[in-house]
Amino acid sequence: MRAFLAIDLPEEVSAALTRLQAGLPVGRPVAEENLHLTLAFLGDQDEVALEGLHYELDALRAAPFALRFSGLGAFGGDRPRILFADVAPEPALTDLHRRVIGIARRAGIAVPRERFHPHVTLARFGNGAAPDVAARLRRFLTEHGDAPLPGFGATGFGLYESTLHPSGVRYELLARYALG
Ligand code: ATP
Ligand code: MG
Repeated sequence: MRAFLAIDLPEEVSAALTRLQAGLPVGRPVAEENLHLTLAFLGDQDEVALEGLHYELDALRAAPFALRFSGLGAFGGDRPRILFADVAPEPALTDLHRRVIGIARRAGIAVPRERFHPHVTLARFGNGAAPDVAARLRRFLTEHGDAPLPGFGATGFGLYESTLHPSGVRYELLARYALG
């Protein structure tokens, strides 16, 4: 199954992100209940590997920490693929990311070596937005890119299964790991 680890957002944060999204004239917005901060994308894994990972993550001890947003951004350059809310650098988050990646590797899960850029995806533009769509997104970023967003405490993260349905992607919480 396709799996990932993500920090859940408090309701007031998801609500604020959804209000911001509502003003976006282009792209496919991420449903409010699906908004999350990916800690590690695990890809397709069998149940045995995920069970091993689960026991290791259950034993992980880490303190909760505060996170804040630092504006909006887009990945994909001239042909944007996603719009996201950027998460301000936080050493405790980087550290947690490093630890869970290490745990996943020890559990036999080959996590790709990618730079960790913590963000919350707000909308998707497929393989790359057409020039007119990109222009409207740029205008949105100029107007709303520094809209204030509430900070929040990261109190835990979840192991999620991701399945694709005709109506869109669905995430199912398999296990939750509390911080502190
Ligand atoms: P969809 O792919 O249908 O648009 P999605 O991207 O939300 O939906 P998944 O592809 O299962 O669903 O991804 C789950 C989470 O992992 C998302 O936050 C996604 O951005 C992230 N993710 C997916 N692929 C990668 C990857 N190769 N590297 C890093 N993060 C990834
Ligand atoms: Mg995806």
